[in-house]
Amino acid sequence: MPRALITGGAGFIGSHLCGLFLDRGWEVMAMDNLLTGRLDNIAPFFPNERFTFIKHNVTNYIHIEGDLDAILHFASPASPIDYLELPIQTLKVGSLGTHNALGLALAKKARLLLASTSEVYGDPLVHPQREDYWGNVNPIGPRGVYDEAKRFAEALTMAYHRTHGVDTRIVRIFNTYGPRMRIHDGRVIPSFFGQAIRGEPLTVYGTGDQTRSFCYVDDMIEGIYQLLQSDYHDPVNLGNPQEFSILEIAEKVKSVAESAVTIAYKPLPVDDPKVRQPDISLAQKILGWTPKVDIDEGLRRTRAYFVEQIAHERAAAANDPGKKGGEQG
Ligand code: UDP
Repeated sequence: MPRALITGGAGFIGSHLCGLFLDRGWEVMAMDNLLTGRLDNIAPFFPNERFTFIKHNVTNYIHIEGDLDAILHFASPASPIDYLELPIQTLKVGSLGTHNALGLALAKKARLLLASTSEVYGDPLVHPQREDYWGNVNPIGPRGVYDEAKRFAEALTMAYHRTHGVDTRIVRIFNTYGPRMRIHDGRVIPSFFGQAIRGEPLTVYGTGDQTRSFCYVDDMIEGIYQLLQSDYHDPVNLGNPQEFSILEIAEKVKSVAESAVTIAYKPLPVDDPKVRQPDISLAQKILGWTPKVDIDEGLRRTRAYFVEQIAHERAAAANDPGKKGGEQG
């Protein structure tokens, strides 16, 4: 039976990957320090005897007994407010954490897949973004802690591949959404859903003309699985190329949540990219992969999860009148 270690396994994409690998017959070890990951995300897997959870910070040496076939390195704060609050942890997990994961891959002769990001392109001057674009990143801006950590992680991964022959893959993940995102993680889709369900105005940063392209999580994890099975070592973009302005996303969330709330305009965060859209022709060519779930369908599939999260939040606030709601789990 193949055996995988998934770092960041209790996070949003990490926990969905755990489910997919279990479904496909793997033994799965999820490793997470629960800084931004949550046990709720992996609770459904606890009864499965092929699943193990290890609480560990991958910035420290990683010890695993026995053989390993694959390491999927997904540990990192990944939402702008998380990495603004956790700048040093973000830099450490991208650098020291990636070094430890690569060292483990070398020792175990395991394949390693690095979760990189569209943030390596920064505020892009080329649109849509192809893998051969080197990006436009402010190294010392507030987002630089994430962008540069992931750029370093890519450099280190290619160095381990070229120097030690480690069998590596690099996925550049564009905006992804779906169930298990934290409703307070600050990213636009959970924020808008939370606000729409609570009946609060949707906070649009800047003019709302900036664009993003959103991929439903089931499409993303299928692409990641296929990339791991491929023999391609250079970075590969995965995402859904359907591009929307943030104002269009606000309208779509209002419609799916059946909410008539207004828009509240807020200042645009520093270095917020003006546009983002993946060119996925490489993934289509080498993997035959293409996302299947469009934004309207994906938002419909996501809605029930956020409704449930808000219900938990309200129940918790009702049990503790001093608390008006907040982070769950
Ligand atoms: N955004 C917004 N309102 C929010 C949260 C985000 O208008 O409540 C905007 C943000 O400024 C950015 C886009 O939505 O232009 C996507 O932000 P997110 O944090 O989801 O991810 P990013 O793509 O910036 O990493």
